[in-house]
Amino acid sequence: MARRLQGKVALITGGARGIGAAAARLFSMHGAKVVIADIRSDLGRSVSEQIQLESGHPVSYVQCDVVNDSDMQNAVDTAVSMHGKLDIMYGNAGIAGEKVNPLEKKKVGILSVEREVFRKVFDVNVYGSFLAAKHAARVMVPQKQGGTILLTGSVATASYGFATHTYTASKHAVVGLAKSLCVELGEFGIRVNCISPFGVATPMCEESMGLDEKALEEMFTAMGNLKGVVLKPKDVAEVALNLVSDESRYLSGLNLLVDGGFCLRSA
Ligand code: NAD
Repeated sequence: MARRLQGKVALITGGARGIGAAAARLFSMHGAKVVIADIRSDLGRSVSEQIQLESGHPVSYVQCDVVNDSDMQNAVDTAVSMHGKLDIMYGNAGIAGEKVNPLEKKKVGILSVEREVFRKVFDVNVYGSFLAAKHAARVMVPQKQGGTILLTGSVATASYGFATHTYTASKHAVVGLAKSLCVELGEFGIRVNCISPFGVATPMCEESMGLDEKALEEMFTAMGNLKGVVLKPKDVAEVALNLVSDESRYLSGLNLLVDGGFCLRSA
C-alpha cells in the first residue's frame, strides 16, 4: 500500500471515536505518527494502542479538552517533543448540542435555544477549532516546513433546515475561521481547509438524535442524494487524507463538502 503520510506527524482532536478515530487509523496506516487528543481518556488510550498494533506506526493519546488553551498547548507540545515536529493538525472534535430526533420532526425553534447549550457548542466547535489552529500555527510557522490544518464543518454550512440553529451557526463560524486563517498562514506555506460531511452514523449522532447506528444509516440514506452508498466514518477519513496529503499541496481555503451532492439538491 502506498504510504501517503510517511514521515508526517499528525495530531487529531476528537480522535477517540467516530470520524476522528477512523482518520487516526487511516493516517496511521499511511505511515503518519499520530497523536490523538480527546477528553475520553480510556477510549482514547485503547483506540491508540489498537491502531498502533494494526499499523505498526506510533500512535499516542493525550488528554485534552480543546476548549482549554493550556490543554491544547500541551497536546501540540507533546506531539513535537515525541516526534520533533507537527505537520498535520486535524481539528475534528465537535459536539451536536441540542438533542433532536429528526424522525419525530420536532425542531429546536429559536425560542427554545438555551444560552448554556449555545455557549457550549460554540466553545467546543468554534473556540476548540481556533485553539487547535492557534497552537498548530505556533509550532508550524517557526518550523519553516509548511504544514496543513484541517478543520471540521458540516453540510449544515451549505444546507438549511435540518440541523439546529446553534450547530449550523457554529459550523459556519468554523468555515469562516478556516478561510481567514488560510489567508494569514499562506505566507508560511501552511494550508488551511475545512471538511464538511453529510450525516454519518457515529456516537455523536446516536446520542444527539436518540437513534441507533442502523436507524441513522437508514435515515441518512433516505435523505441523501447519492443512492447506493452509505457514508461511513472511513469515507470521511479518506477525504481528509486527500486534503492533508502532499498530493493536495496547492489546496487551501476550501470548504469541501463530503455529501454526495446533497447540498445541491436541497439548495
Ligand atoms: P463523535 O462524538 O463520534 O466523536 C467526536 C469526538 O470528539 C469524541 O471522541 C469526543 O470525546 C471528542 N470531543 C468532544 N468534545 C471534546 C472536547 N471538548 N475536547 C476534546 N475532544 C472532544 O462525533 P463525530 O460524528 O465523529 O464528529 C466528528 C466531527 O465531525 C465533529 O466536529 C462533528 O460536528 C463533525 N460532523 C459530524 C457529522 C456526522 O454526521 N457524524 C456530520 C458533519 C460533521
